Amino acid sequence: MLDPTVFAIPLFAILIFVELFLTFRLKSENYTKLDAFSSISMGLGSMLVGIVTKVVVFAVYSFVYQYRLFSFEMSLPIIVLLFFLDDFCYYWFHRLSHSIRFLWASHSIHHSSEKYNLSTALRQTWTGDLTGTFLFWIILPFIGFSPEWVMTMKALSLIYQFWIHTEVITKLPPWFEFVFNTPSHHRVHHAVQTQYLDRNHAGVLIIWDKLFGTFVQEDEKPVYGLVTNIKTHNPIKIAFVEWKLIFKDFKLKIPFTTKLKYFFMPPGWSHDNSRMTSAQMRERNIEG
Ligand SMILES: [Zn+2]
Ligand SMILES: [Zn+2]
Repeated sequence: MLDPTVFAIPLFAILIFVELFLTFRLKSENYTKLDAFSSISMGLGSMLVGIVTKVVVFAVYSFVYQYRLFSFEMSLPIIVLLFFLDDFCYYWFHRLSHSIRFLWASHSIHHSSEKYNLSTALRQTWTGDLTGTFLFWIILPFIGFSPEWVMTMKALSLIYQFWIHTEVITKLPPWFEFVFNTPSHHRVHHAVQTQYLDRNHAGVLIIWDKLFGTFVQEDEKPVYGLVTNIKTHNPIKIAFVEWKLIFKDFKLKIPFTTKLKYFFMPPGWSHDNSRMTSAQMRERNIEG
């Protein structure tokens, strides 16, 4: 089975060139060669790792599919249902990737650029599947959607999310902004201002954030990156930077159960309150 993202690569390349052209006419500081180079390298690395991990993911989904609750023929209504369910799974995968540190170790890579352009979309994790993030979708083969369909829908969702990584598009018509994830909504997601942290986790439909209370409208101009930026363009370092920090915390002279919390608690949690989670930052902001 061929991954639809492979077919989307030429489209990605064309759009990046269009955006580059527009960016240099508007504000050239939005692109730097080194930053775009590291984002594209992360994307290629992620695809290479994916060649191996996708085989395992497919095998796990196929195993579960044997015990499916329903068997149905794929038809338009069923594909639409799969689209909604996939997007729902994506929302929770993404939300928890921001609030459980070992998931954040993989996902933070996507947030590690201080630029926001189409190349940022390609800045993808190398370790996501290895830490089992595909299990957020395990309910789908169990319901009765074939592994091929589940993986295709996951890939289509990622392709959708490519074009929203841009500053070239400001706002789209209100009805579109109301239902869909857009450049404006996703700029908020990549921003480091306290009011924007851990907001707008949507994949394709922004409705989930509105339903589950994580939606914020773009207001103040976003500043992109991580709360503490990594200051490197080396793809290998980018891929493992948060894993290294977790390992460092694991070596602290504290009880083993406390060490484990550095793995499962939200990013920014610390046993001695020497750091802050985004929820704590938000609280402090409200009080202040
Ligand atoms: Zn994110
Ligand atoms: Zn993004």
